[in-house]
Amino acid sequence: MTSQQVVIVGAGMGGLVAALELARHGQAVTVVDAGTRPGGKLRQLRVNGQDIDSGPTVFTMRWVFDELFDTLGLDLDSELALQPLNVLARHWWDDGSAMDLYADPGQSFDAVGNLAGLEEARRFREFCLQARAVYQTLERPYIRRANPTPWGLTREVGWRGLGVLTGLGPLRSLWGHLSRRFTDDRLRQLFARYATYTGSSPWQAPATLMLIAQVEMEGVWTVKGGMQALAGCLHRLAVERGVQFRFETHCERIELRGRRVSGVKLLSGEQLEASAVVFAGDSAALRQGLLGESARRAVTSRAAPRSLSALTWTLHTPTSGLQLDRHNVFFQRRYADEFDDIFRRRQLPRTPTVYLCAQDRGVPGFMPDEGQAERLLCLVNAPAVGDQPPLTAEALERCEYNSFQLMRRCGLAMKPAGPEVLRTSPHLFHQRFPATGGALYGQASHGWMSAFARPRATTPVEGLFLAGGSVHPGPGVPMAALSGRLAAAALMDSLASTSS
Ligand SMILES: Cc1cc2nc3c(=O)[nH]c(=O)nc-3n(C[C@H](O)[C@H](O)[C@H](O)COP(=O)(O)OP(=O)(O)OC[C@H]3O[C@@H](n4cnc5c(N)ncnc54)[C@H](O)[C@@H]3O)c2cc1C
Repeated sequence: MTSQQVVIVGAGMGGLVAALELARHGQAVTVVDAGTRPGGKLRQLRVNGQDIDSGPTVFTMRWVFDELFDTLGLDLDSELALQPLNVLARHWWDDGSAMDLYADPGQSFDAVGNLAGLEEARRFREFCLQARAVYQTLERPYIRRANPTPWGLTREVGWRGLGVLTGLGPLRSLWGHLSRRFTDDRLRQLFARYATYTGSSPWQAPATLMLIAQVEMEGVWTVKGGMQALAGCLHRLAVERGVQFRFETHCERIELRGRRVSGVKLLSGEQLEASAVVFAGDSAALRQGLLGESARRAVTSRAAPRSLSALTWTLHTPTSGLQLDRHNVFFQRRYADEFDDIFRRRQLPRTPTVYLCAQDRGVPGFMPDEGQAERLLCLVNAPAVGDQPPLTAEALERCEYNSFQLMRRCGLAMKPAGPEVLRTSPHLFHQRFPATGGALYGQASHGWMSAFARPRATTPVEGLFLAGGSVHPGPGVPMAALSGRLAAAALMDSLASTSS
């Protein structure tokens, strides 16, 4: 097969992986991105002269990258320094209780027992077995599959898999399932929070999302140099394989000749000819016609509710009062109110759950001394209203106050505001990720059919393919990477069938 010119729009995780895969297959690839560097949502902000991860921080499913590097003839550990964490996350409640979840199931069993008693620890053990069974049932026929359908999935998982899935309770939400599984509200909260990894409400997300518990228990790693180092590594490897990158280059339109893609038009007016295009921005941009009327046809599924956005604070400041770990979560009561505020009232939560990534912790050899500033990312969920009138300063300040007040009630002392803090909001995310309203995970995974409603790599427009967290198999760094592989495979298949 002769080498074809392929343009990829977007140098986020999906775009980078698609570029690498296509270059491996001998294609001539150009990647354009409106931003200034590779990574998209993987990014660092500089505060007080410190580079601080301000996008994704939890690295899971390393097998996705092991397999990718393997196909490139490389070893992941030789290219990136990954360190497994013993404590997956440390959880605090404002009633004074706390619990660590460990990579070692035995340690987690003891921790659950200490928090909520032996009976609850036994239920936790059953929950882990069930989460593993759900994950194992769905990895091959859903996560890895390019085009899963409910019918195909039913056939492929067989009687045993069907037993696993129907055992969750048909149509039951994640919260509904956890309410039956655990009696302790804190454990329900802790595991329900996994719905937010796909930007969804635990009250509307299907119970199958409990598989994220298994994903975390299989391992959480730190990346030396931060998550940005992962993007940097993929970018370097792509450049070494001949991929051309053009940053600060906005793609205005995807061009068609007849029914087939013929290239892209840049904001500068320049045209890039291509026999195929991978769009690796949020697919909502295509649906809204931002890439031209003809490319609208690429996304045929009905528009679904947007996933969560976030308010984040990037800080370099000392903390005291609590022994933080790397990943920390602060909960308060009235968990349901948070999602009611966000998804129904479309307002910032009055009772936010706070995630705090203490990025200097969890790696051997460093523990900040009392009074020494450390690198922190603080994140709370927010509605994806970045294309609506701006949130008022009062609403933002109230949410900030409530978030830092929660950490204070749990015992953590930290300075909330000042010049050493950088904030982002749904409006900033919307500017960087067009058509999203600041939604960070594509469409919300609400209802059991949502798993099949995401756009796929192959589109009805000939020569146009999709990758990224808004398309199948879904959001998150490893899933977006998988989408890049699926898009590249679909593109190679189509070139093969065209040439034959
Ligand atoms: C604050 C935050 C925390 C997160 N936490 C985690 C976590 O801990 N673990 C995890 O696994 N995931 C996490 N995620 C989600 C994860 O980051 C994303 O799902 C994933 O990185 C999305 O990758 P993507 O391929 O969709 O590309 P994106 O990162 O969305 O990048 C898309 C790129 O396309 C470019 N683009 C779009 N349109 C155009 C155009 N018309 N012309 C040119 N360029 C264009 C944009 O500039 C952007 O660079 C988090 C995300 C955020 C924001």
